[in-house]
Amino acid sequence: MILCDYCGKPAKLVDSAIVYEGRSYGPIWYCKECQAWVGCHPGTKEPLGRLANAELRRMKRIAHAVFDPLWRGKSHYTRRMAYQWLAEEMGLPEEETHVGMFDIEQCQKCIDICKKASRRKNT
Ligand SMILES: [Zn+2]
Repeated sequence: MILCDYCGKPAKLVDSAIVYEGRSYGPIWYCKECQAWVGCHPGTKEPLGRLANAELRRMKRIAHAVFDPLWRGKSHYTRRMAYQWLAEEMGLPEEETHVGMFDIEQCQKCIDICKKASRRKNT
């Protein structure tokens, strides 16, 4: 059973068309009261991480926007290496270091770290 991270009640497995204005991207775990949801690993009912509400979704978008350019389009620096670096910077085990698994505070920390790193590279 998947519990909502905000109200603690069981989340429901529904089709993502509910939250994406009729377009389906597969099943999601969904809490109506909190307007929180999380997608599933392809072809499974395994959630990708914790349920995210509107604020956390916003923070994750920002975290991706600052983190992804650090590795994307670079041949010598892979996504995996970028996550290894981030894990070290954040003091987290590598397997817990994924934007999809971050809470608000971790998103903020990730954003700060990545901003600092990209400033360093540009100067
Ligand atoms: Zn809830």
